[in-house]
Amino acid sequence: MSFTNTSELPRILDGIAIAAQIKAEIAEQTASARSRGKVPGLAVILVGDVPASQIYVRSKVKTCGELGIYSELHTPPESTTTEELLNMVTSLNSREEIDGILIQLPLPKHVDTSRLLEAIAPEKDVDGFHPINAGRLLTGYPAEKVLAPCTPAGIMEILQRSGIAVRGRRSVVIGRSNIVGKPLAVMLVNASSTVTVCHSQTTDLAKVTREADILVAAIGHPGFVTPEMVQPGATIIDVGINRVTSAEDVERFFPGDQARHASFAKRGSTLVGDVHPAAFAVSAAYTPVPGGVGALTIAMLMANTVKAARLRRG
Ligand code: NDP
Repeated sequence: MSFTNTSELPRILDGIAIAAQIKAEIAEQTASARSRGKVPGLAVILVGDVPASQIYVRSKVKTCGELGIYSELHTPPESTTTEELLNMVTSLNSREEIDGILIQLPLPKHVDTSRLLEAIAPEKDVDGFHPINAGRLLTGYPAEKVLAPCTPAGIMEILQRSGIAVRGRRSVVIGRSNIVGKPLAVMLVNASSTVTVCHSQTTDLAKVTREADILVAAIGHPGFVTPEMVQPGATIIDVGINRVTSAEDVERFFPGDQARHASFAKRGSTLVGDVHPAAFAVSAAYTPVPGGVGALTIAMLMANTVKAARLRRG
């Protein structure tokens, strides 16, 4: 059995270009809201000093500035208690000019994350993690009225804006996390796809994944999806972001790829998705890592902030 896509080279679904398009639309919407004296506002809470979280938060705050969204950053120390954080959320909930509240995860171990996420007013829950918003998504509220989780919402934008049909087609999602796999499965069902969700207990995974017209990998294992797991001509959405730090792994995933090796030599690491790059060759279209799904997540956070402002303040 040959695993190559017989016709032509697979199409790369350019997340950076799609994110730029979405951001341009948001900038127009914020300009229009500003002209009516309504500036969308986002409050970000970053507890402690986890370097990766600091990088993500910096990027979110910077993007707010670029798109005309007001932002404020709260940086309580690692030792802050759940009660203190709850007070902070309550105060942000009551502020008229704050449309979105984002608590950067993960939180320190002593903090009750679920309690805190549920304390955010659902109409300001721009991460879409509150059970009310999860429930609205599940019960099929119109998309323009739901604050849905950003990564799966970004995946739906990629599919839609790339003209990849979902209705009536078979999707397989590997991963059932609350932030990616499960909400994405719901969004695909809502868009009339026939959806199968796989996880670590799925038996004969490759048999299931080979049935997918749209195959989504949200696992957290570098290069997990191999060519024999992909139906020729499928669309692959690679959500995984895994940092590879050994030269052997770089050669295993990118044999003979001089550009990757040069970049690895310079930085000491490179990013690999949950799909082995060799598997992309079997597909008709795929999202690269980096430059695919990851590029959409912040854009969708901005979109949710503007949506939250519109739904709450008109
Ligand atoms: P989680 O660890 O929460 O979930 C991973 C899922 O993969 C689980 O459902 C798990 O199954 C499943 N899984 C693990 N091993 C296997 C296996 N051997 N076979 C089948 N399924 C398996 O991860 P997240 O959903 O948070 O993230 C997934 C990936 O996406 C990560 O690489 C993460 O970095 C990336 N990510 C990227 C984002 C972006 O912006 N692009 C945003 C969020 C995440 P089980 O439930 O049975 O344990």
